[in-house]
Amino acid sequence: EGFKFIKEGKARIIYPSNEDADDVPAFYNPAQVFNRDLSCAVLEEFAVQYKEKNKDFIDKMNSEKKAENPDAEPWKFRTLEALSASGLRSCRYALECDTVDRIIANDISVSAVQEIHRNSKFNDCEKKIEIANKDAIELMALRRAPKLNVPVIDLDPYGSATPFLDSAVQAVNYGGMLMVTCTDMGVLAGNHPEACFAKYGSFPLKAHFCHEQAIRIVLYSIERAANRYGRYIEPLISLHLDFFIRVFVRVHHGKKHVKLSCTKVGNVCRDPQSHGFTHYTLGELQKTENGSKYVPPQVKTASSVPYATNLKQGGPMWLGPLHNHEFVRAVQSRIEDCDENVWTTKVRLCGLLEACLEELNDVPLYYHMQKDFGIVLKFSLMKQQILRSAIINAGYRVSSSHATTDIIKTDAPLNVIWDILRAY
Ligand code: SAM
Repeated sequence: EGFKFIKEGKARIIYPSNEDADDVPAFYNPAQVFNRDLSCAVLEEFAVQYKEKNKDFIDKMNSEKKAENPDAEPWKFRTLEALSASGLRSCRYALECDTVDRIIANDISVSAVQEIHRNSKFNDCEKKIEIANKDAIELMALRRAPKLNVPVIDLDPYGSATPFLDSAVQAVNYGGMLMVTCTDMGVLAGNHPEACFAKYGSFPLKAHFCHEQAIRIVLYSIERAANRYGRYIEPLISLHLDFFIRVFVRVHHGKKHVKLSCTKVGNVCRDPQSHGFTHYTLGELQKTENGSKYVPPQVKTASSVPYATNLKQGGPMWLGPLHNHEFVRAVQSRIEDCDENVWTTKVRLCGLLEACLEELNDVPLYYHMQKDFGIVLKFSLMKQQILRSAIINAGYRVSSSHATTDIIKTDAPLNVIWDILRAY
């Protein structure tokens, strides 16, 4: 009596009913159902793989604990939801991820923590959820010691996740996973480049590839934070969705690999006239032939001027793969097996992951058919399908992108594309 509830996945969140207010409470964001459904699938798959991979280590740790104290609790697979709000996501992880043993649900707000208590009790998953009321940065910093590290940390803030990255990369286990959301799309998409540089350390270009560029800027920022502590990332799934970025990255450690980071991040040069672009990793810049001076990469233009002269430089950003295909496939088959009544976004999720598998994983960014080619051409553009076939016939690869429609992602040089477009 006096309470209402919302059902999502296997969880229900409870909130006081208020006749005057709208039905949905302020802290509940229905637009994030998709994010939470996907995160449940990713977390369970990751937990299964992590336990399998570290089986010997976990067994050894448990027998050492038992030898010290026969009543000691066995090692638990913990997930820290550092910014938990109502606790809905934590309740869902507790109810839907069988392989996850414990969830630490934390929020800085006292009223949010009251909600978490109420919701975990209401969902009968109090035993699986440990509740904390701390500044997430402080909580993660306290878990820097390897013994206190957790295998998974979920960062789902309002706006940018950058303030939390330094402590998160240190608090996650070697080989553990960070799940990171950023919702400040205006900044990441290039509307406020100076703000983006200040927050993420990367200068975004105002271009039609802004959606994928935003993902790459977030990944760059996580990689930089990881590198500071002898760690580096491996993106498992990296997405641009509706109005936010969501990435799932594995965090490894090792000095040798950290040094290779300069071969995975780099800049993008774009010619605003022809819309042509090129990219180069910062490591590549050092590899000049015979000690000769570095010559900036050149972008061929559509016009008679062979090379653009007023290139805009963006970055640095992540230029490596966005997804680990094997992992994407494993998550996809997990979603295919689930009940559509529980995960209401099942069909969309499967389609999205299929799009991730189809997109060229080693080719950063893309051209927009109409906005990049149509506008420059000033005459009618060939159909995308015809352009794609011609590019393939010329011996190059081509794909679409999960991030947006009507684009061409290809390893064909721009002059090849223009030759095809002109010949049409
Ligand atoms: N993950 C939640 C979900 O899926 O329903 C939504 C989280 S909400 C977008 C962000 C939350 O972060 C808010 O509840 C806010 O109180 C909390 N927060 C903001 N700064 C924080 C900090 N420094 N430490 C801990 N919590 C913080």
